[in-house]
Amino acid sequence: MRYHRQIIIPEIGKRGQDKLLGSKVLIVGAGGLGSIVAFYLASSGIGYIGIIDPDIVELSNLHRQILHNEEHIGMPKAISAFINLRKLNSDIKVLPYPDEISKKNVSQYFTHYDLVVACPDNFKTRVLLNEASFKFLKPLVIGAISEFEGQVFDIIPPKGPCYNCLFDEAQDDDIAKGILAPVAGVIGSIMAIETIKILLNLGDLLHGKMLLYDALKEKFREVKFLRNTSCKICK
Ligand SMILES: [Zn+2]
Repeated sequence: MRYHRQIIIPEIGKRGQDKLLGSKVLIVGAGGLGSIVAFYLASSGIGYIGIIDPDIVELSNLHRQILHNEEHIGMPKAISAFINLRKLNSDIKVLPYPDEISKKNVSQYFTHYDLVVACPDNFKTRVLLNEASFKFLKPLVIGAISEFEGQVFDIIPPKGPCYNCLFDEAQDDDIAKGILAPVAGVIGSIMAIETIKILLNLGDLLHGKMLLYDALKEKFREVKFLRNTSCKICK
């Protein structure tokens, strides 16, 4: 009953729903993008969701990080996410990790999951996740948002291109930028869609191309990108 409206889609069906219920997805970052990704993956019936974030919920997070609420201010975001996802769907397993993903623990997380969704707020973590994606051969969905804009693309190892092909120099994105809250909703939703498509092998993926969204112009644009022949991460 819960997934009826999803099961009646011919491309998904009971078999697709069972596949989702048997899938393990790790969400890195329980912020603006992670909130949307986590809610939709939980409601869609991804059977096993890990959510990792080292931060605690602050008042200034709530305008875009809708996975949290006022009652959870001061609580680790991973725990807040666990509580609210359980309220939405108690049939699935949610594993909270109030931890920072790092070189030391990345293998332990990647080996346990089928796919990773990258929703961190910094360049360093995206680089780490990209490398791990190729090392452990796990698909990675990457998204980023800033002010009125957002971008999404998929990384499907062992075939490039990868994040390193695009951004081989450190990006200056560690400074907190403004974000129009619903832009996180648009980009996070597309990330959840890509995740489900990869798990079910459906449709065309954002592999080798990036989807760019401009909220002011209310336009989407697709930019193709090739593998950087000198990239040491992908093939
Ligand atoms: Zn590459």
